[in-house]
Amino acid sequence: MAEEGKETFDADRAGALVKELRECFDNGTTKSYDWRVSQLESIAKMVDEREKDILAALHQDLSKPEHEAFVSEVKTSMTTYPSSAEIVSEPLGVVLVISTWNYPFMLSLEPVIGAIAAGNAVVLKPSEIAPATSSLLAKLLEEYVDNTAIRVVEGAVAEASALLEQKWDTIFYTGSGRVGRIIMSAAARHLTPVILELGGKCPAVVDSDVNIEVAVRRIIAGKWGCNSGQACIAPDYLITAKAFAPKLIDTLRSELKVFFGENPMESKDLSRIVNLYHFTRLSKLMDEDKVSDKKVLGGQRDENQLKIAPTIFLDVPEDSLIMEDEIFGPLLPILTVENLEDSFAVINSKPKPLAAYLFTNNEELKNNFVKNISSGGMLINDTILHVTVSGLPFGGVGESGMGSYHGKFSFDAFSHKKAVLYRSFEGDTPTRYPPYTPGKLKLL
Ligand code: NAD
Repeated sequence: MAEEGKETFDADRAGALVKELRECFDNGTTKSYDWRVSQLESIAKMVDEREKDILAALHQDLSKPEHEAFVSEVKTSMTTYPSSAEIVSEPLGVVLVISTWNYPFMLSLEPVIGAIAAGNAVVLKPSEIAPATSSLLAKLLEEYVDNTAIRVVEGAVAEASALLEQKWDTIFYTGSGRVGRIIMSAAARHLTPVILELGGKCPAVVDSDVNIEVAVRRIIAGKWGCNSGQACIAPDYLITAKAFAPKLIDTLRSELKVFFGENPMESKDLSRIVNLYHFTRLSKLMDEDKVSDKKVLGGQRDENQLKIAPTIFLDVPEDSLIMEDEIFGPLLPILTVENLEDSFAVINSKPKPLAAYLFTNNEELKNNFVKNISSGGMLINDTILHVTVSGLPFGGVGESGMGSYHGKFSFDAFSHKKAVLYRSFEGDTPTRYPPYTPGKLKLL
């Protein structure tokens, strides 16, 4: 209830507050080292200077003896000597892994390996959209591992929903943000933590000072060489300077010919679209009026074979369908800007991507890119390869996901870090104990 004379704090005010803070965050205030140090120093100063007020308020609220409040809430450096401490990694318990279809073997097995390494029992639900891999995984894991603790449940939404009704100790999900939201709300019922490996529109910014052939080959490898663009970290769209776009397109055209021949529809080196649903979805993106007349390359498709040729568009409008959601297919829009640093605003106007790429030799641009773009991971002068470095965590941020894995990070993802402090019966400081006397306070 609002106190008399105090304005009610309603949703409008809450919205205005968040907007104000977001503007402050966006203009970089909180990122500066000096700002962070100065704010922390101010808090230390505040506690120091206003100790009496703090103790009085604690007394008013909880009748907290001044001595106890000083030890537990104000003076936080009370010695625990003699003691030793350790962090114990313990398995979370029984965990659920729900995986997707585009790398259906790796994206199923890798989290399962992390779960087992950390000591959990695990149920894997592979994607029904890759049925051959799903049934092979079920068969192989039944044969090769201990089925008292490691199991596979095959199926689609009904089976996934039945699993989600249960209480798990963590849920590891790879797939779309739409289903990610369903997973998270199911997990909330049991206060189960989630790791969500989602997707997003991964940008690749291309400067004009690059080795254009190498840059283009690496873009092609990351886009069409990875499941025909059906990869979560495939470049979703390119941004380049207006003046450089013709050269970039010419090189894409010639290198695509080297990779996939005169007629890419016949290339054995180009994956097909996974199913008719996704083929139709991609066709709709290509056929939107304001996009189809921006096509500069490709466009061939064959519904029977579920194949779409590498297709490039130049300067599609920001409000076109192709720029709305993750493309997840062989279509590549190129946006142009006057100045490459203008690309930051384009990228930051969209949800945070899973990966962001930059091709440049300009050190200042690299630094600014790393500093100003928030994404799950980042790779300068290549695509995709950061995912193969096991010393780097792999995961999203914002709408591209939460939590990370790979290498040691997989072990950590499926462990609880238990903080343990060991004390002996020596060094029993009486200053902690009541009755609280002024003499004891002086000793602290
Ligand atoms: P999908 O349709 O295979 O769904 C993933 C899983 O969710 C499947 O096991 C499916 O059975 C289950 N599922 C679907 N609907 C459900 C529901 N209503 N309730 C419970 N479970 C449900 O895969 P998708 O969603 O098409 O995957 C594509 C997305 O995955 C893209 O956005 C891509 O970027 C993302 N992705 C992310 C990563 C990563 O590592 N971050 C990797 C690959 C793909």
